[in-house]
Order: sequence, then structure tokens, then C-alpha cells
Amino acid sequence: MPKLRNSQASRALMGRLWHEYVARHWPTIALALTLMVIEGSTVGLLSYMLQPMFDLVFVDGNVQAMWWVGFAILALFLVRAFTGVFQRVLMVKVAQLSSTAMQVDLLGHMMTLDTPYFQNNSPGALIERVQGDTLAVQNVWQVLIQGVGRDIVALTSLFMVALWVDWVWTVTALIGVPLLILPSVALQRYVRRKTGQMRDAATNRSTRLDEIFHGIREVKLNGMEAYQLGRFRRVVDDIVTVNVKTTAGQSMLPGLIDIMTGVGFFGVLILGGREIIEGDKTVGEFMSFFTAMALAFQPLRRLGSLAGIFQIAAASLERLYAIFDMRPGITSPAAPATVAAAQADVVLRDVNFSYDDTLVLNGLSFTAPAGKTTALVGASGAGKSTVFNVLTRLIEPQSGQVCLGDVPVGALNLATLRGLFSTVTQDALLFDETLRENILLGRTDVDEARLAEVLDAAHVADFLPNLPQGLDSPAGPRGSNLSGGQRQRVAIARALLRDTPILLLDEATSALDAQSEAVIQGALERLSQGRTTLVIAHRLATIRNADLIVVMDRGQVVEQGSHDELLAQGGVYARLHRLQFDKKHS
Ligand code: ADP
Repeated sequence: MPKLRNSQASRALMGRLWHEYVARHWPTIALALTLMVIEGSTVGLLSYMLQPMFDLVFVDGNVQAMWWVGFAILALFLVRAFTGVFQRVLMVKVAQLSSTAMQVDLLGHMMTLDTPYFQNNSPGALIERVQGDTLAVQNVWQVLIQGVGRDIVALTSLFMVALWVDWVWTVTALIGVPLLILPSVALQRYVRRKTGQMRDAATNRSTRLDEIFHGIREVKLNGMEAYQLGRFRRVVDDIVTVNVKTTAGQSMLPGLIDIMTGVGFFGVLILGGREIIEGDKTVGEFMSFFTAMALAFQPLRRLGSLAGIFQIAAASLERLYAIFDMRPGITSPAAPATVAAAQADVVLRDVNFSYDDTLVLNGLSFTAPAGKTTALVGASGAGKSTVFNVLTRLIEPQSGQVCLGDVPVGALNLATLRGLFSTVTQDALLFDETLRENILLGRTDVDEARLAEVLDAAHVADFLPNLPQGLDSPAGPRGSNLSGGQRQRVAIARALLRDTPILLLDEATSALDAQSEAVIQGALERLSQGRTTLVIAHRLATIRNADLIVVMDRGQVVEQGSHDELLAQGGVYARLHRLQFDKKHS
């Protein structure tokens, strides 16, 4: 019975949503509910008032009755207006507060998830979860509570008026109800399937947009505009199809209710019309009954569409709670160890790491001595960046030990561990904020003098005069207002401010002009003084003075030693060195 399990599961999720995000607003909800009950009951009272209106005022010609009936109806509409406005405002407030609280929690939780999660899910898809799916569940409580509070009360009061007029007419009017049950179950199943597809289509759309805007350079340079537009058009075509189908399914239930009401009206007219003609019932009674039925029509349709809204929310809730239930694998230990990181060697012992089937680190072992500079050399894909990732626990090796001194990195508090490292790469990601914010990264304890010192040392001060607002110029999306060399200098400034015992450097891969290279090299040397430094070297000239050079190939250390030792060995390093040297002089 997959259907049953499905609906039980969504009810359970709805319960969770209620407990975690909605229930805390109960005083507001209680007030709104009270207003809704009042609003709902005015509808019954209105239809009730039609009986004296017709029988006393119109048929008997009672002028006095005209006044009190008129005032009573006026008062009912005033109450309705007042309660209607306030309950809506209150419920929107609850819906907004609970959905934004969910967004905040979701983002907070997502940021704790492991790096592979972010490699497997595109930013577009993740944005869709935080924005689209929370939006889809935002309204569900508002609609449910309104349905329960206003519409059920309205229906009950109208039903009571109808029963009071004539129970046989009432039963006749409802004759079609049992016929609704089976089709409505089938419809719900259909809507549920379609809403799932609708959320997937929306995710595809966000993913495409994200890919295009992030890759806009490549799109333009490769003339891919028409191709990308075509792909986007196909995605939005899907959205149209599936949205139309969902809406068709959703409105089918109110449609069924229309048919049922039509049949009821017909039955009552034939039955009641005869009784009035024969003088068994007054026109006023008939009008009261008929108005009650006509007024029952809207709340009934709204309640009918509830099922569809519930299914839409359930599809999003499933996706949201699947994320909430995901637990990060990389976490802080309950009783974190401490380490004197400045004196600790960085040690990798027989470390194995693979992505799925690809072995990336294959029994890698080496020691980067404390306070010294260790260079990692090797072909692209050898696993050098992966070493940085296991050190900072962005990924966790399948086996082997990664230690600072004799403390495994996994024994340290995660924030403490990451606080021991500064990373400098040319691709240093800058945020779309000012340079100042990009360098301070939220710190408020840095005075202007210290900041100026750091800007000088990192040679950021050199290019500030060229920027329109100096340090307060925006860096642009992902730092796009700056050149690669400038971004790297900002990263060096960040690292100087962080002043951590361990430094991870990824040298610029793209060629900088000789002057910037010298400037950056100088800044990096100053930065690495007295710190345990691991540097991924692309140009061997810059690591001549490294204390230790580790040559890697396919996740293993193939040789290690000082520049002179390795040259003397005449192995891989010597060959690489010869290649680069020859190229320079050819
Ligand atoms: P290097 O820094 O030496 O150029 P990396 O450490 O970046 O090498 O990568 C080592 C290997 O791991 C490469 O073969 C690369 O294809 C693979 N790799 C890196 N990231 C991923 C990933 N997210 N999924 C699968 N394979 C990856």
C-alpha cells in the first residue's frame, strides 16, 4: 500500500512542521481562529436572516421588521469585514514567521553538511530548496487553519440553517456527496505525483540559471547563447506542462463539488418548489435554505481544494526534511583535544582517499616540519589539493592518519582546527562585498593601524589608489572586479590578519607578469616566516629555498628532500626541473 504509507508519511512531516515551526505561534493562531469562527458564523446568520426578510418584510409588509432586519444584516457585514481583515493579517504573519525561521534553520543546517554534498548538488538546486520549497509549505498552515476555522464553521452554521428549514431538503441537497469519495482519492494521488515533478522542474530551472550566470564568460566566448537558451526553453516548457496538469488535478475536486451542488440544487428545487406551490412552506423558508446552500458553495470548494494544497506542500516538505535529516559525517568530537600547533609537525601517515572508485591519495605519507616550508610538487591531478582538504577536514580520508604533532586532526574541535590554517590561492574566492569586508571577514577587533600594516605587507595598498573607493570598493560577484594577482594579494592580507600557525599556499597557476610575481613572492615569503607552510608549487624556481620538497605522483610520494638533494638524485624532480629550465631558455 504505497499510497497509504505516502499519506501517513506526509501527515507525519506536517506534524513535524507544526511542532517545530508553527505551534510556537499558538497565541496568534488562537486569536486568528477566534476571529475566523466569528467570520464563519456570520455566513450562517446571514442566510438565517433571509427568512424574516422575506416572510415579515416582503410578504407581511411589516415596516418595523424592515428596520431591525436591515440593521441586523448591516451589523453582520461589519463584523465580517473586521474579523476578515484581522484574521488574514495574523495568519500571514504566522506563515511568514514560520517559513523564514525554517529558511534560516535550513541554511544553518546545510552549511554543516559535508563538502561532497555540495559537489553533488548544484547551487541552483540548493537555492531552490531554501527558497522555492519553503515557499511552497509557507501557505499550508494558513490555508489549513483558515479552512478549519472559517470554512468549517461557516459550513456547520449553514448546515444548521438548512436542517432547521427542512431536513429532507438537506439530505436531498447532499445526495451526490458519497459519489465524490473515490474520484477525490484518485485525484489526490495524481496531484501528488505531478507536484513532485513540478518541484523537480523548478529545481532544473534554478540549476540552469545558476550554471549560465556563473559560466557567462564561457557561454559568450564559446557562442553558446542559443544552445543555453534552447536548454532553458525546454526546462520551462516542462514547467508549463506539469503546472497545467497539477492545476487541472487541483481544480478537479472543486469542479466535482460544483457538479454535486448542481445536482443538489436541482433536487431541492423540484422537491421544494412543489411544497411552496402547495402552501406547505413559505417563500422565506425556501430563500433561507437556498441562500444557505449558495453560501455553502464557496467554503465547500475551498475545503475541496485543501487536499491539493496539502499534496503540494507535502512534496516540498519531503524534500526539505530529507535535508534536515541528513547528518554531516565530519563533526567535532564530544571531548576535543588540544594541540600546540605552532610547534606541531604536519604528519600524514599512510593516508588513503578515493572519490567513489577513483583513488586520489594512495597510502600517502610525509611529514611537514613545524615552522618550516614544505613544497608539494607533482603533475596536475597528483592529489596536492586533496592534501589541503584532508588537513582542514573538508574531506575525511577512508584510512590512515592525519595529525598535527601526535594529535589526529579529527580529535580537534572543527572550528579550532580550521582556525589553525590560512589558505591562499589565486582563485581566492572573494564575496560580493567591499574589499575591507573581504579582508576582515566579519572580524571587528582589527584597528585601522593594524589593517594598514597588513595592506602594506600584502601589497594591497599598491593598487588601492586605482580603485574608485579605495578599500571600500566592491569586489564584484566572486571578486570579478579584481585581477587574479589582486585577488591573491587580498587573500594574503586575509591570511596575515588571521595570523595562524599553519599556512596552505596554492601558487598562482596562471602567469603573472614578472613584476606582480616578484611582489607576490615577496609578500608570501613574509607571510610564511615562522609558520608551518605547505605550498603547492607550480614553478619550481619559487621553491628552491623550501626546507623540504615532496614530489607526488598519483597520490603517492615518489621522492622527497631538499632542492639540491633531489637534483643530485636525478629522478622525477630533476627531470621536471630540467624541463622548466629548458623552456625558459629556449
Ligand atoms: P592536484 O591538486 O594535484 O592537481 P587534486 O588533489 O585536485 O590534484 O585532485 C586529485 C584527483 O582527484 C584528480 O584526479 C581529480 O580528478 C580527482 N578529484 C578531485 N575532486 C574530485 C571530486 N569532487 N570528485 C571526483 N574526483 C575528484
